[in-house]
Amino acid sequence: MANTEALAVPGTGTHVDVLIVGAGISGVGSAYHLQQQCPNKSYVILEMKDTFGGTWETHKYPGVRSDSDLYTFGYRFKPWVGDPIASADKILTYMGEVIEENGIDQHIRYGHRITRSSWSSEDNLWTVEATRNSDGATVTFTCNFLWMCQGYYDHEKPYLPDWPGVDTYQGMFIHAQLWDPEIDYSGKRVLVIGSGATAATVIPAFAEKAEHVTMLQRSPTYFYCQENKNELADRLREIGIDEPTIHRVVRAQVMYDQDAMTQRCLTEPDAVFEELKALVRHYAGEDFQFEPHFIPKYRVWQQRLAFCPEGDVFKAAAAGKLSVVTDTIDTFTEKGVRTDSGEEIEADIIVATTGFRLSVMGDIPFEVDGKPVDWHDTINYRGMMFTGVPNLLWVFGYFRASWTLRVDMLGDFVCRLLKHMDEVGAKKVDVALRDEDKEMDVLPWIEEDNFNPGYLMRGLDQLPCRGNKPEWRHNQDYWAERKEIPAIDLDGDEFLYDNKHRANAREARESGTG
Ligand SMILES: Cc1cc2nc3c(=O)[nH]c(=O)nc-3n(C[C@H](O)[C@H](O)[C@H](O)COP(=O)(O)OP(=O)(O)OC[C@H]3O[C@@H](n4cnc5c(N)ncnc54)[C@H](O)[C@@H]3O)c2cc1C
Repeated sequence: MANTEALAVPGTGTHVDVLIVGAGISGVGSAYHLQQQCPNKSYVILEMKDTFGGTWETHKYPGVRSDSDLYTFGYRFKPWVGDPIASADKILTYMGEVIEENGIDQHIRYGHRITRSSWSSEDNLWTVEATRNSDGATVTFTCNFLWMCQGYYDHEKPYLPDWPGVDTYQGMFIHAQLWDPEIDYSGKRVLVIGSGATAATVIPAFAEKAEHVTMLQRSPTYFYCQENKNELADRLREIGIDEPTIHRVVRAQVMYDQDAMTQRCLTEPDAVFEELKALVRHYAGEDFQFEPHFIPKYRVWQQRLAFCPEGDVFKAAAAGKLSVVTDTIDTFTEKGVRTDSGEEIEADIIVATTGFRLSVMGDIPFEVDGKPVDWHDTINYRGMMFTGVPNLLWVFGYFRASWTLRVDMLGDFVCRLLKHMDEVGAKKVDVALRDEDKEMDVLPWIEEDNFNPGYLMRGLDQLPCRGNKPEWRHNQDYWAERKEIPAIDLDGDEFLYDNKHRANAREARESGTG
């Protein structure tokens, strides 16, 4: 029998204006924007873990760190004052400060796993059920607007391919996402399966204490080696510029450079690759051999570029602490793995860095007016709202720019939308295809040629669909969206307020009669 619990957020009952799902970097940033820009809205954050941080709390493997710079991964409103690439601990400290400085803690309900969410058009409300970890009770909330900040992967069950013979292996086998910091790898032979961003992070850390590290990859990855410092930030600090100004200026510099890099990856990928190789040689020596393990088959930036602060992976390789094998696994054996070419790699610890299990909307079952929502039947509006699902926004950041840039931007958008709803007296907002969109091609959410990480490709049938017009796709382009999203006409034909278009209101306004 469900228990209904009163909320302990000051001034609220079991009902809130806005319910935010998840206290990761997206949920905390969204809460900040909501309370800054819509101070009269009540809100709560439901978080299934017992603490904040999301990604930065889940991952505990050696060396865990960001792979983009914190001047852009940090929020626009809170200066980052450390090295550009930061450890999970430092990111958690930063988030903790944001929570404390802004009184966000009193709005977070930890240990609340959302298990069901249903919309009623009769009441214009979401009813959200959560299981409270402390006593297993079902706690029910209602809200006008749902802000989905639950991330994109299962924090408890990572993705592991179904390799034969895993049970015969006598050593320790673990996925990096489940790594326990108590595990001692000193003097051990460590085999890392995979060569993406996680592998690039753990390998140099393992190489410091392990007897030897082997990286087994199916295919090569691009690596970007650079010092972990920002000269502009250091210089501005040296001459006494204040931190908020440094944050703003360095963010602009990083974004400008990233944009230029992204464009060049598209227009001159071969030249970019030569530059990436030159950076590797700078750290690992002029005679470093790229063939066969460091010549990827895909175009640069089609998957995330693995960042290597100070060329650490390549220094480990040059020092003989790391060997690389490019092959596929035939089977696990008692002592390690055997590859398709027959080579046996022996190891005391095998660490899989094989990525995520996609979790769409936190694996929460959704209903709209009693009908289950199949996200694949919906079409997304700019990667944030969905046809047929009212009063809900999903925060999904960028692949090639820091995720948090979109958190800040969508924070502004939601607040503008909520204020607009109040102004026009609407209780419900939907997005719907316009007449001119009805014949539009409906396509898978991911544009495979543009970006194709495994966890999304494996779950395409669970993801929403996109159209081939700018309004109906997540364009993954921060530099375009920073202009487009603030300019969205909330009275445009793609928005319905209480089931009605406001096109007449817009026309009247434009003609000066409204
Ligand atoms: C190791 C690692 C390094 C990364 N480095 C970078 C980087 O440098 N730059 C970058 O841009 N991106 C990076 N990413 C991508 C990263 O995941 C995002 O940038 C960002 O941290 C996602 O934040 P989030 O708050 O949206 O989601 P998450 O961090 O996934 O947080 C979601 C929260 O929602 C909670 N939740 C989920 N479902 C429910 C439910 N049903 N009920 C209640 N609570 C729920 C979870 O417990 C979690 O706390 C990295 C990812 C990993 C794994």
